[in-house]
Amino acid sequence: MKKGRLTLAVIRPAWKRWAAAGTLILLCALLLLPAGRLHIEAPAWWPTPTIVVDPGHGGYDPGVRVEAAPPEKDIALQISRALAAALRNRGFTVLLTRTDDRDYALPGQRGRDAKRTDLDARIAFAEAHRAVAFVSIHCNSSPEAARGGAETFFNPALPGSKPLADAIQAELRTIPGMSPREAHDGSAYYLLQHLTMPAVIVEAGYLLIPSDRVRLTDPAYQRQIAEATARGVTNFLHQWAR
Ligand SMILES: [Zn+2]
Repeated sequence: MKKGRLTLAVIRPAWKRWAAAGTLILLCALLLLPAGRLHIEAPAWWPTPTIVVDPGHGGYDPGVRVEAAPPEKDIALQISRALAAALRNRGFTVLLTRTDDRDYALPGQRGRDAKRTDLDARIAFAEAHRAVAFVSIHCNSSPEAARGGAETFFNPALPGSKPLADAIQAELRTIPGMSPREAHDGSAYYLLQHLTMPAVIVEAGYLLIPSDRVRLTDPAYQRQIAEATARGVTNFLHQWAR
């Protein structure tokens, strides 16, 4: 029996073997097409650009706290998760500095020391993963602002920071009802002073302004902020990589 099968394979005409191989290649191509549209998280060694998304605050540090709204740390985490998903859908590898309610201060540390240790850990994380862009998500707390709106902060001394901020701000302005704000100098921010890749801080809105507060806690609005920020990052990287 075995011998018979072997003989059949050997005498099969060449055109039939080519036809079989062609059919197999076509089937593989058809199987791969839909897979290309699915989100599959790339492993660490995969050579796609890595973007670090940093949900501001966490753990002992709640950020801005306003009555009748979750603390800034919670809103920042929700928007950051949506931003990570939006960037992954665009093919980037995305790492979050935190995925739950935590900080990186040492046990017993509080105040300025705790904040410094926490931020140093986030900076070291982004540098260790050679991120091509760093986006920190926060909510604004200024009580003086006459109107709300999202604002992006950059460090003029950090290469790529202003172009990244401008690209994000341009997309944030397209959100319906958004105040037409500009990107601002954020060179006083510790994070933007110590990172070496293009980095920005996105203040997604003003928690102290009631209309912004309502929007910031709305998952649909959080997704709009995330999508706009992801478009800005993508536009920037396409320009920057040239
Ligand atoms: Zn903050």
